[in-house]
This record gives sequence, structure tokens and C-alpha cells, in this order.
Amino acid sequence: MIEIQNINKSFGSNHVLKGIDAIFEPGKVSLIIGGSGSGKSTLLKCIVGLHTPETGKVFFDKKEFTRLSFEDRVPIRKEIGMLFQNSALFDSMTVEQNIVFSLDMFTNMSKAEKVDRANFCLERVNLAGRNDLYPAELSGGMKKRVGIARAISMNPKYLFCDEPNSGLDPATSIVIDELIQELTEEYNCTTVVVTHDMNSVMGIGQYILFLHKGEKFWEGSSQDMLQADIQELNDFVFASPL
Ligand code: ATP
Ligand code: MG
Repeated sequence: MIEIQNINKSFGSNHVLKGIDAIFEPGKVSLIIGGSGSGKSTLLKCIVGLHTPETGKVFFDKKEFTRLSFEDRVPIRKEIGMLFQNSALFDSMTVEQNIVFSLDMFTNMSKAEKVDRANFCLERVNLAGRNDLYPAELSGGMKKRVGIARAISMNPKYLFCDEPNSGLDPATSIVIDELIQELTEEYNCTTVVVTHDMNSVMGIGQYILFLHKGEKFWEGSSQDMLQADIQELNDFVFASPL
């Protein structure tokens, strides 16, 4: 479980996140939705410690991450898998090297163990045998899947995905969503996904946090969302056709 309390984050005079509270449960996919610039990626980065919020607390299974020193955060960092908005693969590294690199940073596995783990993760995302390709040789959907393979390489307890469906056709999007859902159940992960994709919202969103201009405007299930009569939420839903 991840709990965030009163997260405020500004960049200069731009007050991007305004007192955000939320609870993300294990074994479920929680979604953060909202318009472009509403603060979704910033919130994800504040949760994983890539940004430091001015106020607020982040708890990973009751442990207060925000007050830990850099060194003391390492055990929790090892349990975090992250898929960045643009997949963030290293272009000069092959698919396998991209995964092995992240294992190098956090494990003492032997070279053979790391390659075994990379193979296992690639198989899991249906990319077995693509080890030696470079990112430039992959389609958008394949890049996302390599990003997911890398994110799960450490057996994460917490999985974060920023726009896993962006740039994908609807069929590939569904494959990615199903994969995220399956991995969440398989690892009993606390999974937080940022998305614009209404199919994802209706398909995998068990808890939805709607951000509007940096505020938590609404939270609930996808079913509740259909009933909610909130102008800003309706504008978002109707501007994002299924
Ligand atoms: P999108 O859907 O387009 O990805 P988002 O909801 O993820 O949008 P953020 O990337 O969190 O939005 O950005 C929210 C606001 O914070 C924007 O006004 C943006 O300009 C600002 N911002 C984000 N990152 C930085 C940064 N590193 N430095 C300065 N401003 C930033
Ligand atoms: Mg973003």
C-alpha cells in the first residue's frame, strides 16, 4: 500500500500540486487521470522520490519514504519498478543490456543470473529472443514492453507506469493494459498508472484519482465515474472518446 498526504510541489511560481492525498492499494491498478499539465507525471515523480515536494508525506507500507536519507531509501527503491512516459530506454544499449543495467545497479547477481532474469522478463512481455535489438529497431509497443520488462526485473512490490498506452494502437494498448493487470495480480503489486486512455480507465482502473489544475478534484471507481456529475470530469471524459 502507498499513502500520500498533502503533497505540494511548485516549480518557481508555478504551483503544480496542491495538497494531494491518496491511498493506493496492493493487488489493484490505481489510475491517475487528468488533462495535460494537470500534474500527473510530477505527482508520480514526487511519490518515487525523483522530485522533492515542499510539503507532504509518502508512505510505502507505512514506512515514511519522504523522511528517509538517500541511503535509507535504497531498500524501498529496490522494490519500485517504473515505466517512464517515453519508455526511457538507453539507445546505445540492446534490449538485454537495458534490463541487465538496472539489475547491475541494485543486485549482486552474477552475469549469468542477470541474463536469465532478463530472458524471463522478456518472455513475460512476449519479447523472447529480441535480446540483441537496439531501441531504434523496436516499434512503440515493443519499447513499452521492454520498459515494462525492465520495470518488473526486480520483482517489484510497487509498479509505476507513466502513459503506458501513449502512441499505441487500440489493440496494442489493450495488450499492455492486460499485461499490467496480470503483473499486478501476479506480484500483488501496488500499481499506479498515469493515463489519458479512457479504455484503460474503464478496463483496469479499480481506483481513479482525477487531477485538475494540480488539485485532487475527484476520486472513486470507474463505475462511480460514470455516475459522477462533475463538469470538469465530464469534460475530460467526453474529450477522450472510448
Ligand atoms: P501530460 O499529460 O502532458 O504528460 P502532466 O499532467 O503529466 O501532463 P506534468 O508533466 O506533471 O503534467 O506537468 C505539470 C506542470 O509542471 C506543467 O506546468 C509543467 O510545465 C510543470 N513542470 C513539470 N516538470 C517540470 C520541471 N522539471 N521543471 C519545471 N516545470 C515543470
Ligand atoms: Mg505526464
